[in-house]
Parts: sequence; structure tokens; C-alpha cells
Amino acid sequence: MRCNYNCKFCLEQKTEEEQKNYIDELTELSYTKERLFLAMLHSRLAFGIERINFSGGDPLVNKPKQLTEEIAMAKGLGFSKITILTNGALLDKELVDSYAAAGLTNLTVSIHTRDADNYNELTQPKSKKDYHEHIKEMMRYAAQKPGLTVRINAAKTKDYTESVDDLIDFAKELGVQEITINEMIPANDFSRQQYEPIGNEIRGYEKTEERAWGLSLYSPKGESKGPSVAICRFGGEDFAESQSKDLYLLPNGTLSQYLFDRGEGITY
Ligand code: SF4
Repeated sequence: MRCNYNCKFCLEQKTEEEQKNYIDELTELSYTKERLFLAMLHSRLAFGIERINFSGGDPLVNKPKQLTEEIAMAKGLGFSKITILTNGALLDKELVDSYAAAGLTNLTVSIHTRDADNYNELTQPKSKKDYHEHIKEMMRYAAQKPGLTVRINAAKTKDYTESVDDLIDFAKELGVQEITINEMIPANDFSRQQYEPIGNEIRGYEKTEERAWGLSLYSPKGESKGPSVAICRFGGEDFAESQSKDLYLLPNGTLSQYLFDRGEGITY
């Protein structure tokens, strides 16, 4: 899947050469609605999968309008959680409206900091445009839609992003319902340099659950209000192994046991 950004920490785009090859490889594999339908149907019937995530690259780069039909298809097949994971640059109000009307339940937007300069340096939009303000506007707009849960997806770095507490304040300012803060996955030199373990203490929050993959969930303490928080401690050693316990429907129509490395999954 293609992307309009070139984030310094991206798992898929480590060098320009790798990025080019990756795009070429996946352009050849470009999926059709029929293949996607087959994969979705099989994942529902054979594996009882209930959640689908349209991700990428960025899922809005190729056919943003077709995505409305795909969301409706997923809803018709009975998926209960239908998510788009996007950098948000290509969202507009019309698309948000049509995705929500088609059955989108969750919109996850990767915005890693409230500082526009740091954001641009970290994510390197290929058009050189500054999308930061636009993305925040789209998130505020989407967060008002009944039935749609909006989440910040933030990659925590040493030098480009705020503290965990400040990122949660940023989520409050945007009015979104959830925030996930991810430790850098040590995939390239940049992410290794920028890796910093996230601690357990969050101002005004208490830990409510620990799951596989080093995922911890936090809720506001007592009377305080705020978004729910997930911390993903990707730096943990068991991360790669734990991937294979899940099943992912990737945007090119491939059903795979691996989200981040290309292990041998089940392919349609
Ligand atoms: S937006 Fe996502 S897929 Fe695109 S370059 Fe950034 S991390 Fe990679």
C-alpha cells in the first residue's frame, strides 16, 4: 500500500530504495473489491473475526471513495469494529461523513505531537505541505459524530514528541475519545536512537488492564475525565513472537498472521 508520507520511523520505508521497491511490489498486488470481499467473508466464517482495520501505507492514498463501499461491505458481513488507520492528511469532511454513514466505528489518526514543526520533520509529507492544522480540524469534526470513536495514534520519540502526560492533554484539546502511545519499534537506526521506554505512571490515570504485546490500558482516576489511554511497549523482547498469535486482514486483501514483518501468512 502506498503512502503520502515518509515517516522517519516507518516500518515499511527504511530507505528511499526500499520504499520504492515496497511501493512497486504492492502496486503489482493491488487488490480488487472481489478479493477483499472473499478474504473478509472467509475471515468471518472460518475464523470468526469481528474486527477489521483498513491501514496501509495510508488507506486514503489510492481509492478514498471506494473505501466507503468497502466499509459498507464489512458492515454487511457483520464486522462489529471497523477501523481506518490513517495519517489523516487526505481526510475531508465529506469523506468522514460518508465513512461514518457506511458503518465506520473507529477512526485512528497518527498524529504524534501538537508541535507542527516537529510533526513535519518526523513524518516528512511528500508534498511538503503542512497538514497538521487540517488533521486536527478533521479529528475534532469526526469526534463529534455519533457512533464514531476517534483515537490518536502517537509514536513516542525522545526528541520530537511531548511527555505521555502532555500527549494526553493534546487528546483532551482535540476532544477525541482514545489515545494510544507507542514506544518506538526498533526497526531502523532512527527508531533505535529515538527509543525511550515509557513508564507506568500517568498523571490522573490508573492502569486497568495488561494484555499481550506489552499493551497496557489506563482509565481516568476517580472523578477525572479524559480519553482512555493505551500504552504499547513495543520495545519488549517478546513482541515479534507474540505477533503470530493474531490474524490481520491487510489492505491488499492478504490475510496474514504477521502485521509488521512479512512472515508466511495465509494468502488469498
Ligand atoms: S504514515 Fe504510516 S505508513 Fe505512511 S510513512 Fe508514516 S508510518 Fe509509514
